[in-house]
Amino acid sequence: MAIDPICGIDVDEKTADFQTRLEHETFYFCSKACQERFEIKEGLRREDKKWWQRLLKEPKGGGPPKCH
Ligand SMILES: [Zn+2]
Repeated sequence: MAIDPICGIDVDEKTADFQTRLEHETFYFCSKACQERFEIKEGLRREDKKWWQRLLKEPKGGGPPKCH
């Protein structure tokens, strides 16, 4: 079992609908509300962008994305 880092209850990681992966760890949540609160707290989520959009490298100057 994993522990929801926001409210502290046990979450079964096999059936958890709400999970967020940080660099080396995956966190599981009992609800969308807990997940969102966690992601905002960790700086993964903003109102205008999804957390995963922030992880994508955005090209500067509007050019196409470069892959190394
Ligand atoms: Zn929770």
